[in-house]
Amino acid sequence: MGLTGIQIFKLLPKTNCGECGFPTCLAFAMALAAAKAELEKCPTLPDAAKEQLSEASAPPIRQFTIGTGEYGVKVGGETVMFRHEKTFFNKPGLAVLITDAMDDAEVERRFSKVAELQYERVGLNLRPEMVALKDGGNKDRYLNLVKKAASRDPAIILMSYDAGVMKEALDSAAAKKPLIYAATRENVDAFGALAKESACPLAVKGQGLEEVAALTEKLTGMGIKDMILDSASRGVKESFADQIIIRRAALQSRFKPLGFPTITFPCEMTDNIMKETLIASLHIAKYAGIIVLSDFEGENVFPLLLQRLNIYTDPQRPMTTTQGIYPINNPDTNSPVLVTCNFSLTYFIVSGEIENSRVPAWLLVMDTEGLSVMTAWAAGKFVGDAVGPFIKKSGIEEKVTHKKLIIPGYAAAILGDLEEELPGWEIMIGPREAGHLPGYLKLWKS
Ligand code: SF4
Repeated sequence: MGLTGIQIFKLLPKTNCGECGFPTCLAFAMALAAAKAELEKCPTLPDAAKEQLSEASAPPIRQFTIGTGEYGVKVGGETVMFRHEKTFFNKPGLAVLITDAMDDAEVERRFSKVAELQYERVGLNLRPEMVALKDGGNKDRYLNLVKKAASRDPAIILMSYDAGVMKEALDSAAAKKPLIYAATRENVDAFGALAKESACPLAVKGQGLEEVAALTEKLTGMGIKDMILDSASRGVKESFADQIIIRRAALQSRFKPLGFPTITFPCEMTDNIMKETLIASLHIAKYAGIIVLSDFEGENVFPLLLQRLNIYTDPQRPMTTTQGIYPINNPDTNSPVLVTCNFSLTYFIVSGEIENSRVPAWLLVMDTEGLSVMTAWAAGKFVGDAVGPFIKKSGIEEKVTHKKLIIPGYAAAILGDLEEELPGWEIMIGPREAGHLPGYLKLWKS
């Protein structure tokens, strides 16, 4: 955002109607300046102001989506060089290469891998989301491949330098908003026209960054907005350097011809799958928008998904679980009631141990702004006069016939205050470590 909150405020309607979800226009302006609100949320913004603000609020790296539905991959939109400055927003899409030279069984195996490799972690579903379909010269087989991909969920990258083949591929797949890969110096006019006609995003491949910038300038002149960059470097060092140069040029120099996300090809940098995975991990950290791998197996995809999750988690905001009552193992009115904080890791460890115990139980998760039990207690967020009112309002009294509450062992100090807050309740101090919960719960008597 190039404008300050006050500059934005001057352009807003100043009616303080609250329809944007903020109590005042000033609050909305401040949120916009901090990139924490979207311009579209103000329904009464005059067109002239909208135009002026859209231009100023556009992220320095173009943001758009490849694919549709829940497999759509949002790329670009980044605003910082280092995640600790703020956060990285749109995690890179992971694509597996499929070519028309592969036999049907191999093609099917790769499609299946994209669907199968899914992992549940901290309440999130981690999975790769793209297929890159490479034209190897067998047009009929390639177009069949495209049709097959168009009938499935993952987002598609269409890889061909032949405008005729690309046009036919788009006839089958344009509704899925695939990435067209790639416009080059030789085919830029034809590929620009295809991208415009199909309204699909376009990859731009140049031999070096100067050529990439010249191509994006030309395509921008043709009215193409959603582009993704490939500097064609296939050495690890060169490709890594290009990622950094592109990000710096976009963010620090506001150089618009490079203000786009990037695509990288670890699959073309080595024949060794482990080296390829390492290169991909480098590009997750800095700064690929899409990473194309030669194959998907659990041992290369899982670590990349976890790394991606870590890098693209907001470092200033702890992961949280929604406040509420969580029934575990089909509890009834006699089942024990436990309370804990809403730091995701705590929730998943505690709920996992309760599940392991096979004892039916009610787990109350209290909003402590993502702080762990000890930290929340020290910060005054998991203390008697906070936990007490939460228990009263939680609705647990309608679910059980007893009045016994198990608090974490690390919060034993709140016992006295909590007893005062919850007259009639028996407060029990649970174990300090979640690992001891199964043994503790087996002794439960309501
Ligand atoms: Fe102001 Fe627009 Fe928000 Fe209403 S919706 S408070 S006019 S910014």
